[in-house]
Amino acid sequence: MSHVFGPVPSRRLGRSLGVDLIPFKTCSYDCIYCQLGRTTSKTIERKEWVPLRTVLDDLKPKLALNPDWITLSGSGEPTLYSRLDELIADIHEITDVPVAVLTNGSLLWQPDLRRQISKADLVIPSLDGGDSETFQTINRPAPKISFETMLEGLIAFRQEFKKQYWLEILLLEGINADGEPLENLIRCVSAIAPDRIQLNTATRPPAEQSARPVAPARMQEIAARFGPTAEVIADYRNVHAQTDFSSQKDAVMELLSRRPCTTEDIAGGLGIHRNEVVKYIEELTEAGQLAVENIAEKTFYKPTRKET
Ligand code: SF4
Repeated sequence: MSHVFGPVPSRRLGRSLGVDLIPFKTCSYDCIYCQLGRTTSKTIERKEWVPLRTVLDDLKPKLALNPDWITLSGSGEPTLYSRLDELIADIHEITDVPVAVLTNGSLLWQPDLRRQISKADLVIPSLDGGDSETFQTINRPAPKISFETMLEGLIAFRQEFKKQYWLEILLLEGINADGEPLENLIRCVSAIAPDRIQLNTATRPPAEQSARPVAPARMQEIAARFGPTAEVIADYRNVHAQTDFSSQKDAVMELLSRRPCTTEDIAGGLGIHRNEVVKYIEELTEAGQLAVENIAEKTFYKPTRKET
């Protein structure tokens, strides 16, 4: 399967071409809200998981689709890719489309990684816990990543990186959306001083049921606490109405009307990337068109039946 998927509509980046650099599901975290399910390979080892040449060969034909951004993300944490600087430089050689990196920010304490990722045009790291306890509860990091180390990395990169740095915060009801955990988060964000603060919540089916979404009105109240650079990430329903998105969404519904499937089944059945499937599932679930069923630790989707 290609390592490049989309373009898919992105909340922040319009039509985004996703580049998957990491095998499913390899990450330095195992977040309770992860839409890809539980981490099966928790690691901080950086290596060339996919040959760089293969990634570029997959990318070139997709540039004809005129994406707004090329986004390095993947089925895990993209900064685990050891040749990030060379990859970004090679992309800049073949196109003017800007490159964004979506990262959990856990490894930015490594100076060489900071040097590599600084080649990107936009970096969007995450921060969900403002103290060690909340960090452990939400992100369940690899043992070598302490809260202090992670935070130092986020701050150091901000001081060095002069291009756009947007910080994403995932708020969860009863965990980091009020009281002391929220106050700690606000203090950390003020120390980082990102260009933008983007507040999100668990709207997609999460890895763990304990990851509960925060209500929209409360999200707006919290955004006000973070100050003028904070925003609740807008609903992207309009972008989803694009033709290419709608036809794939219909194909997903058609498949599910035949039998309940996991995201992996859908990706295999339709020959599209798992991350792309997640976008369709999210939209269809939000629209009330899909029901979720957990069987033997696997999440299955099926159409909701309308009463006649
Ligand atoms: S949400 Fe991102 S950082 Fe967290 S486990 Fe999933 S892939 Fe890793």
